[in-house]
Amino acid sequence: MVKIAEAQRRLFEGVFVCRRCKSKIRTQNTRIMDKSVKCRKCGSKDLRAKKMKK
Ligand SMILES: [Zn+2]
Repeated sequence: MVKIAEAQRRLFEGVFVCRRCKSKIRTQNTRIMDKSVKCRKCGSKDLRAKKMKK
């Protein structure tokens, strides 16, 4: 099952979702922590990491 875990990591790592308009943004985790990332659509800095389902 290593392949699936790897694929999920690749898909979800560095993907964040805007809490306001729910658009997806690809960036690095460190840039989210710095709050240097803004939503492309609404300009909100309120982003959350995309969660994967079990
Ligand atoms: Zn937004």
